[in-house]
Amino acid sequence: MQPATSTTAGSPAARPRDVLQVDVVCVGAGVASLSAALRFLDRVRSEGGASRPPHVLIFDKGRDVGSHVLSGAVVDPRPLEVLLGQERMGALPVEAEVTSEAFYYLTAARAWKLPVTPPPMRSRGFLMVSLSKVSRWLATLCEQAGAEVYAGCAVTELLESGDGRVVGVRLGDRGLDRMGRPKPNFEPGPDVHAQVVVLGEGASGALTEPLIARKRLAADSHVTTYALGIKERIRVPARPGQRGKVVHTFGYPLDAATYGGGFLYGLSDTDWAVGLVVGLDYTDPMLSPHELFRAWKAHPMVRAHLAEGRVVGYGAKVIPEGGYFAVPRLVTEGVLLVGDGAGLLDSVRLKGVDLAVESGLAAGDTLFDCWRHGDWSLGRLAEYENRIRKTAGWRRLRRYRNVRACFQRGLWAGVAATAVSYVTAGFLPWGRIRMEPDAVRTRPATGDSIRRAAVVGDPALQLDILTDLFYSGTEHEEDQPCHLVIKDPARCASECLPKFRAPCTRVCPAGVYELAEDGRGVRIQAANCLHCGTCEIKDPLRNIEWKLPEGGGGPRYRDM
Ligand code: SF4
Repeated sequence: MQPATSTTAGSPAARPRDVLQVDVVCVGAGVASLSAALRFLDRVRSEGGASRPPHVLIFDKGRDVGSHVLSGAVVDPRPLEVLLGQERMGALPVEAEVTSEAFYYLTAARAWKLPVTPPPMRSRGFLMVSLSKVSRWLATLCEQAGAEVYAGCAVTELLESGDGRVVGVRLGDRGLDRMGRPKPNFEPGPDVHAQVVVLGEGASGALTEPLIARKRLAADSHVTTYALGIKERIRVPARPGQRGKVVHTFGYPLDAATYGGGFLYGLSDTDWAVGLVVGLDYTDPMLSPHELFRAWKAHPMVRAHLAEGRVVGYGAKVIPEGGYFAVPRLVTEGVLLVGDGAGLLDSVRLKGVDLAVESGLAAGDTLFDCWRHGDWSLGRLAEYENRIRKTAGWRRLRRYRNVRACFQRGLWAGVAATAVSYVTAGFLPWGRIRMEPDAVRTRPATGDSIRRAAVVGDPALQLDILTDLFYSGTEHEEDQPCHLVIKDPARCASECLPKFRAPCTRVCPAGVYELAEDGRGVRIQAANCLHCGTCEIKDPLRNIEWKLPEGGGGPRYRDM
């Protein structure tokens, strides 16, 4: 389709902005968006008759599709089987099938294996995948089905009509210097008008969160809380038998007041996916998730699995943990919210991919219904929520709806709530147990030292943050406006440093924030940013704003 053009006063260079008209735009080429597009186009092909095929565009801000996709990942295959059918399912890039699983409680020196894996955590027969690989593969299927997929394109704005309906998206301008002035290669981002925008940005999305606030989509929901997941891919000398092995841990190095746990997934005879998830509702501002990750790797039980290994991949992302009560309305005029960005993640099972695919299936069916009837009204789009409520993932979210909130009262309260919810099919604990937002949970610092455990592990595995970061492939154009903004820098010296000792310098898994030499503020190395969103979520003063940088920057996950 040939673009029309419009001149926009908002552009620094007042250059004409291309305007395209399509049927559906997907923001973010993660599993949820790609599943929605694929389901929609599959149904058009099989049931759509001779009508004009719909025009579907998918944009992703990563350099390539999958560059910004990171997950464990052990996947319940059932929703994927529905999406792909038998033949395509056979071609899904799978690293291994889960053949054994174990669950350990760790203290600093010992590991106790639970006699049975807790039922919600069971995953025998599930698939181990690299989600960045799976996303690339799904994007190819979407292209074969007729969608156009563009990586390196940051969608920076939702376009609204006068009556508040979302009518499309604006892509970010390219070629602005660090002062926001156009460089010789300046190009204004085009506007893409569409009947529906499928928002699948992932957790804490830069467009999703403001939309939820503006449209009051979470007016009846609890606050969303998050966890930070830090992950490495570690290569060890070949050990037949480790492929398909799943190990989960809880306890050390997290104390009883800090939610989270570790995982080791045997992807092959040589490669482990390992990670530590830390709930961001922790209270101690001196805590450093990356230091805890190192301490976890140095634990004797974990070390035994990773002996003689070396890091070959690194990444971090936030995981939405609010659960059932924190899911916002998933539909507004012209928009469907899918996947992690909609809070659709089961933090008890540490599983989000199956819910992402289920939300994609529900969104794809809804798009097909709208397209077939030529009716893109809110009433027809709202069927998406009804479809979501019929999914197995939604029923599981409901069953464990109060579990995460109980963990905010301590490890053993959470463990008890998990067991009771399982036995009573979610009847207990009843009511709606509220959670506090992660930012306000941070308490004033009581000391100056980072909570470190003695790190005694193999130096090849005990990487500092900047060495780890090298394995994420992170890069940004340096001469562009800084995408991390301290809204009121004076508050760093007057409030944050004396009270909280600048927690951004510890919580960031990429070492982006450093104390300034004069000790009165922070220096920001924005080029190192992994786009995880943690700093904005956990900042006790809510003084950090994460903005979308130019498309193509950020991590470059390949097999993560
Ligand atoms: Fe994550 Fe913020 Fe650090 Fe970027 S700067 S890696 S968004 S915590």
